[in-house]
Amino acid sequence: QPDIQAHTVSSVCPYCGVGCQVELHVSNNQVLEVTGKAGPANQGRLCIKGRYGFDYIHHPQRLTTPLIRKSQAPKHAHPLLPAERWMDEFRPATWDEALQLAADRLTAIKRRQGAQSLAGFGSAKCTNEEAYLFQKLVRTGFGSNNVDHCTRLCHASSVSALLEGVGSGAVSNPVRDVAQAEVILVIGANPSVNHPVGASWIKNAVKQGATLIVADPRRTDLARHARHVLQFKPDTDVLLLNAMLHVIVQENLVDHTFIADRVEGFDELAAHVNAYSPERVAPLCGIPADLVRTVARTYARAKSSMILWGMGISQHVHGTDNARCLIALAMITGQIGRPGTGLHPLRGQNNVQGASDAGLIPMMYPDYQRVDHPDARAKFETLWNTRLDPKPGLTVVEVMQACLQGQVQGMYIVGENPAMSDPDVQHARDALAALDCLIVQDIFLTETASLADIVLPATAFYEKTGTVTNTDRLVQMGRKAVDPPGEAKPDWWIIQALAQRMGLPWRYPHEAAVFDEMRHAMHSLENITWDQLEQQGSQVYPCNAAHPLGQSVVFTDQFPTATGKARLVPAHFNHAGELPDADYPFVLITGRQLEHWHTGSMTRRSAVLDELEPQPYACLNPEDLRMLDVAVGQRIEILSRRGQVQLPVRADAGNPRGTVFIPFCYHEAAANVLTNPQLDPVGKIPEFKFCAIAVHKF
Ligand code: SF4
Repeated sequence: QPDIQAHTVSSVCPYCGVGCQVELHVSNNQVLEVTGKAGPANQGRLCIKGRYGFDYIHHPQRLTTPLIRKSQAPKHAHPLLPAERWMDEFRPATWDEALQLAADRLTAIKRRQGAQSLAGFGSAKCTNEEAYLFQKLVRTGFGSNNVDHCTRLCHASSVSALLEGVGSGAVSNPVRDVAQAEVILVIGANPSVNHPVGASWIKNAVKQGATLIVADPRRTDLARHARHVLQFKPDTDVLLLNAMLHVIVQENLVDHTFIADRVEGFDELAAHVNAYSPERVAPLCGIPADLVRTVARTYARAKSSMILWGMGISQHVHGTDNARCLIALAMITGQIGRPGTGLHPLRGQNNVQGASDAGLIPMMYPDYQRVDHPDARAKFETLWNTRLDPKPGLTVVEVMQACLQGQVQGMYIVGENPAMSDPDVQHARDALAALDCLIVQDIFLTETASLADIVLPATAFYEKTGTVTNTDRLVQMGRKAVDPPGEAKPDWWIIQALAQRMGLPWRYPHEAAVFDEMRHAMHSLENITWDQLEQQGSQVYPCNAAHPLGQSVVFTDQFPTATGKARLVPAHFNHAGELPDADYPFVLITGRQLEHWHTGSMTRRSAVLDELEPQPYACLNPEDLRMLDVAVGQRIEILSRRGQVQLPVRADAGNPRGTVFIPFCYHEAAANVLTNPQLDPVGKIPEFKFCAIAVHKF
């Protein structure tokens, strides 16, 4: 290979929703180093994942050719073997053979059992253009709305509450607005680990005088910087937040002018929270009444208060209710529509905002236009020149049930790993193994790909060009820096090739052509051009004639609802789906860790990151370890009603008594073997943050 002179390429970090811009230092088709670029979200900063988590793209286990399952190879629903072993169950194929086989098998299932028997699971790791094409393929080629992605597992409940309350599922203010906030409330989020550069902006704001309130059942790193720490009992979010609302209403700390002009439902909310006095909820949520009053007053009285939340709020059967309370806090105090105020659900993956915007949602077309709304359906039927299914499709967890019941028999999964990320994961693995045809498109032979009939090798993020949208509504250009290994192809190319073989007349010559079609379909993108993104690297939406540079702070004069006003929805307290009892006396909380990303397929193949954190672990309070007579480093067995894992323990005094925290990235002790698949009835998000477990010395 000719020696290609070292050069740099600008792109975006492939991990979290902060969306840090990066400079890739490239030589001889190898990324040698990643440094921070002065993007709007990061100003040159990067965390350990962005800086060191890049060499997975050159890992020898990368998929380099399409694979077809050998006819005699059984599907193992317990994919705990190393990836090299799974490889024995496949034979290499040409692109032509693999794509034609995939198209033929999906078409045969559809003919035999109808459009509802096919489903797609798209990815927030793909670009906006790829997400858009994927949902278009499912809707126009498969013929159903059975398309979803990982937002169902992270912020579906937040988005449901926001759409219901303020008419938009996206954030109101960017993370960096914390610099203008007098008070910052971070609840159910651990940004030092999950959004580290975002956390650095919060810490900077505190140094400049902002008051930080941290509320979380676990005492996180950010608590060290907080004026007030509310380590409330797991599952009691609604009690705590309703008590704050109670104080604000009872002490007349509400913004009457804002409510009169811009809010509906205040009287009902005020009557509802009357029952939630701090004195009444204090013993239930474990926070002294005085502290609840102090925090409520601090939030309401400040000139500018901003709320940021994470999956500690959203991943509950009451996730939508949790978010409704946060929305109510901002609305009754008028803490929205100005710099340093507002509502910010910290988005997980680098393109979960964009993938949601692009329509990877079973009940919504691009830009959150409902599939069961005749006008929206007519618009997309005209644009895509086909009849569309008026029925909302199956969500991520529902689709697994449908697979086991034989209602769904063919599935196309791109860049996701539900055999590790779904709740009650053995159930998900059984469901995937039961499919008549599973097509998985990824960069490695993941736990999910090991169950596939056809595996399609895709490019990694730094091997392709396309746009992604960060947690701040910032659309950014990711650029190709190196060629992919072997015959791996960009996801948009593969999706289009499959669509063509299923009879769709697609002719997109490049990514920019897809983006152009998206601008016609999506109000949010209509004033953003590909050329503009190529030149300036990023552009925030909404952006229009009145705001040609984009609006990073929205809801300044009205809400995008039918009446222009926000709607308050009182939240009733309901318990978690599964409470501890004599047999399962502990509570399991799952989450991420700084060094690893989601199911670990990328970071566990990044040398520096895996060297730092090479094996699974469970965190327990030191008092609980003493009670169990377990030493740090010793292995324990953890059981739930769904499965069991064995792993070593660490002591963490930040873990409340009676709880166990496990990161979900380790296939050797997959935390989701244990988790409860029960769903929030509105957002349909499973309860990853709470289930009953037993802990035994091993
Ligand atoms: Fe990447 Fe997020 Fe870290 Fe930034 S904060 S470098 S986007 S993982």
